[in-house]
Amino acid sequence: MTGIDIHRRGLMLVLSSPSGAGKTTLSRRLLESDAEIEMSVSATTRKPRPGEQEGRDYFFLSTEDFGIMRNRGEFLEHAKVFGNYYGTPRAPVEDALSRGRDVLFDIDWQGTQQLDETAPEDIVKVFILPPSVHDLEKRLKARAQDPAEVVAERMAKASDEISHYQEYEYIIINEDMDRAFAELQAILKAERLRRRRLTGLSNFVKQLREAL
Ligand code: 5GP
Repeated sequence: MTGIDIHRRGLMLVLSSPSGAGKTTLSRRLLESDAEIEMSVSATTRKPRPGEQEGRDYFFLSTEDFGIMRNRGEFLEHAKVFGNYYGTPRAPVEDALSRGRDVLFDIDWQGTQQLDETAPEDIVKVFILPPSVHDLEKRLKARAQDPAEVVAERMAKASDEISHYQEYEYIIINEDMDRAFAELQAILKAERLRRRRLTGLSNFVKQLREAL
C-alpha cells in the first residue's frame, strides 16, 4: 500500500476589525487550540500597554528603527494606524509558510490590502463586526488600559475601519464569543481543504485512477 503523499501550503489568515470587537480574544483562542497556526508578531512604534510583552505582543521599536527596517524592505506590509506605525516582519512569515504552517495576522485594512497584492492565493480575509455600538464601547472601556481619550478616538475610528468590510471574504458578527470562535474555526477548516493549497494531489489522483 502506498502512503497518501498530499501536503498543504500554509495560508495567511487575516483578522481585521475595529478595536474592541473581540479580535484579540479570538486570536488567542485560536492559537491555543490549533497547533498548525502561529501568530505573526508585528512591529510598532506605539508604547507598550501594561502587560504587553516585547516579542510576544509586538516588537516595540523607535520611529527611527522602524524606518530603517522599512527602508530595507524587511516588512511584508506596513501602515500608519492611530498615529503610530505598524508593520509585519517578513522573514518569520515566509519561514512559517515554507514549513507548511499557517500564519495569523491581526492587521488593519491597509495592511490587508497590501498582503492581498503580494499573496492573493494564500490570504484568507476575515472581518469581525461588533453586534452593536454599545457593545463595542463596553468592550473598549472594559479593557481599562487605555485612557478615556484613546477610547473616544478608537470609537471615532471604528466607522472608518468598518467601512472596509467589503474587502473581506468572511464576516463574523461577534455577539457570542463561543459561536464567533466556532465560526472562525469553520472558516479555517474549509480553507485548509482548498484544492489549490494541496500539493501532490494530481499524483495521488493519478495513482487512484491507474488502480481502477
Ligand atoms: P493596537 O494598537 O490596538 O494593538 O492595534 C491597533 C490597530 O493596528 C489594530 O487594528 C491592528 O489590527 C492594527 N495592526 C497591528 N499590527 C499591525 C501590522 O503589523 N500592520 C498593520 N497594517 N496593522 C496592524
